[in-house]
Amino acid sequence: MIRDFEYLTPKTLEEALTLLDKYGDECKVIAGGQSLLILMKQGLVAPEYLIDIKGITELNYIKSDAKEGLRIGALTPHRAIEKSPVVRNGFAVLAEMENRLASIQTRNWGTIGGNLCHGDPAGDPAPVLIALNANLKMASLKGERTTAIEDFFLDYFETALEPGELLTEIQVPVVPPHTGTVYIKFNVIESDLATVGVAVSITLGSSEGICQDVRIALGAAASTPVRAKQAEAVLRGKKITDNLLREAGQIASTEAEPISDIYASEEYRRELVKVLVKRVSREALARAKQA
Ligand SMILES: Cc1cc2nc3c(=O)[nH]c(=O)nc-3n(C[C@H](O)[C@H](O)[C@H](O)COP(=O)(O)OP(=O)(O)OC[C@H]3O[C@@H](n4cnc5c(N)ncnc54)[C@H](O)[C@@H]3O)c2cc1C
Repeated sequence: MIRDFEYLTPKTLEEALTLLDKYGDECKVIAGGQSLLILMKQGLVAPEYLIDIKGITELNYIKSDAKEGLRIGALTPHRAIEKSPVVRNGFAVLAEMENRLASIQTRNWGTIGGNLCHGDPAGDPAPVLIALNANLKMASLKGERTTAIEDFFLDYFETALEPGELLTEIQVPVVPPHTGTVYIKFNVIESDLATVGVAVSITLGSSEGICQDVRIALGAAASTPVRAKQAEAVLRGKKITDNLLREAGQIASTEAEPISDIYASEEYRRELVKVLVKRVSREALARAKQA
């Protein structure tokens, strides 16, 4: 049973921030409600005031330019990102990820910002955005600040958002030349959360296919989405071979800190990380060679 609450519908960011500041701990923000309503029905969240920000159109956009890269407003629905020609052309991995996130119904209403702020370590967007080196912009009445997405997740369902703050924008820098990025999620039930998800971005130097940079991000493999930095070090600066990919997968599986739950045991998740890091890196390498 959902407890009674007062429902507030600001139409601008300024209005929403003012309400957040006024009601503090007594209020909760709702965007698409795809995650929050479940918690409210379970009685785990029971705010006095529910601030519905879905109607703030100024936070629903996808913009791209050659210098700044991609900018996505926090209230942009998953489906808009999946279908965006700008995303499909310049940041295909994001559209591919969205295409496998939940059902079309959930993608139509759920927002990218709500997904990130929910802080579920099994969410799909975070590993992809970490691999793409994204930043997040937040706003409160005190002003704006930006943080690297990998610093945004603090623990299970806990983020770096301060009281009174809203996530406003996801910023993805221009993808360097000769870069390939791939995301694969393993799940048993179609349109469900990942048992484990892995995103890898590889940038090759212009000569002889040396790996100039690599970012490996794991989902559902720890209490937050994480980078497998030791595995990255195995590949960076080298010409990537199958043996190195195997080694990177092995190391990533020791860096992961998964839990056992109803979907998979800790051991099974480590095995998935090992296999997927190798597989996803191989595909990212193939894309980088063609980019
Ligand atoms: C059946 C089902 C299947 C799903 N499958 C997947 C899946 O496969 N992969 C996946 O990644 N996710 C999945 N999800 C989760 C879901 O897609 C996302 O969590 C959803 O997109 C959240 O967005 P929302 O706008 O609905 O957020 P809400 O539910 O409205 O909010 C979520 C949280 O974020 C906060 N919040 C929202 N927007 C902001 C903001 N701009 N600033 C600050 N705080 C904010 C809210 O206060 C709340 O705490 C699934 C959900 C369902 C119901």
